[in-house]
Amino acid sequence: MSQPPPTADELGRLLLPLADEIEAARAVPEGVLETVARSGALAAMVPAQYGGRPLSYQEYGELNRAVARTSASLQSLLTVHGMVCASLSRWAPERTRQRLLPRLASGELLGAFGLTEDSAGSDAQAIETTATPDNPAGAGAADAVWRLDGVKRWLSFGQVAHCFLVFAKHGDRSVGFLVRRDDPGVTVVPSRRTSGFRSAMLADLHLDGCRVPADRMVGRPGFGVAQVASGALSLGRLCVAYGSLGLAEACCDAMLGHTSSRKQFGGRLIDLQLVRGLVSDAVLDTEAARLLCEQAARAMDAQDDWLIHHVLTAKLAASRAADTAASAAAQLHGAAGLVDGGPVDRWVRDARVMQVIEGSTQLLQHLLAEESLQRFRVRRRHPRYPFAQGADRVE
Ligand SMILES: Cc1cc2nc3c(=O)[nH]c(=O)nc-3n(C[C@H](O)[C@H](O)[C@H](O)COP(=O)(O)OP(=O)(O)OC[C@H]3O[C@@H](n4cnc5c(N)ncnc54)[C@H](O)[C@@H]3O)c2cc1C
Repeated sequence: MSQPPPTADELGRLLLPLADEIEAARAVPEGVLETVARSGALAAMVPAQYGGRPLSYQEYGELNRAVARTSASLQSLLTVHGMVCASLSRWAPERTRQRLLPRLASGELLGAFGLTEDSAGSDAQAIETTATPDNPAGAGAADAVWRLDGVKRWLSFGQVAHCFLVFAKHGDRSVGFLVRRDDPGVTVVPSRRTSGFRSAMLADLHLDGCRVPADRMVGRPGFGVAQVASGALSLGRLCVAYGSLGLAEACCDAMLGHTSSRKQFGGRLIDLQLVRGLVSDAVLDTEAARLLCEQAARAMDAQDDWLIHHVLTAKLAASRAADTAASAAAQLHGAAGLVDGGPVDRWVRDARVMQVIEGSTQLLQHLLAEESLQRFRVRRRHPRYPFAQGADRVE
């Protein structure tokens, strides 16, 4: 009988001793990728009928949290691979699901997510990659092919991924495609190095007359950014929120450990009031982030109409908590917190990234204010509409 998959915390404990190796290599070693694949983590967003081991969003969130305690870079693989699997499961033609999902679930194939371009960062609708039908005269529907041209930037794990979910414009409508690394016209180039997420093996994807069969279209024209990418981004934001939570927890543990053992002025650092202020702020933000993450994951599991709202609050709060906790940890470790490549230095750099990826803090603030404004308008018409999900009615 096959072994049951490890729990999130078991996987976290298995990976923890590898944290420094992953960071120093500026890559996730193949053996670590195999460990993650064997754990079933890559199958979590694939339905059982395609060989997956589906987890609830709460369980997947916990997995992301546990992995991020070791390496935020490695956790970002769960983010993007999960986004690709979930998008294919929902939007790809049945033939493509049957062909690819079992191999993505086993980790034989790794998936990367290609939305960002030079012209399109926060403004995803501004993508300029083009998708054009490219069928020789007389070709039947079964032979239909699309031609993709453009450059996608900053794909996490793009250096090692076998397939890429990309978004392009067909006229003024956006559309998703699954591109294989060995498709004609595909070139993968490592991206410029980033200070945080050093080991996320970022790559740029050049599509130069890349020809893709029509059955690898994901969603239909018009659905690309608005439906397929935005659904994937909700999952991505939840993963980043839980990843930030894991990072913040690691920082809190490190600062509690350090300040309770380090002695200055004849006593422990933790007994100094100003130190307690920094520690308690970090703990408070981290615990608040945990509640918001759990609330968001529950909303995703229930697919309720507060989903977007709760995912935004979770990602905003948790990425800020990670930043607060990482900078407090760095401050309280003194010189030891500034050691190049040490864990505290890594957390500070990785926490910065958490506030940029899957929607920057400012973009999410904009979206949250907009979403809240819409709910306010409803509340003005219907005084019983709650101020927050589950809250008592507001008169
Ligand atoms: C480590 C890493 C991994 C990544 N992985 C992927 C990946 O796998 N796939 C992928 O497609 N992309 C990926 N990206 C790209 C990432 O999604 C973009 O960096 C992000 O969307 C922001 O886009 P930008 O960098 O072009 O910043 P811009 O869009 O130029 O924004 C710059 C800043 O302007 C401000 N700003 C932007 N919009 C608003 C607004 N509406 N209101 C107020 N302020 C605003 C914010 O402060 C923002 O940080 C990755 C990036 C990094 C660093």
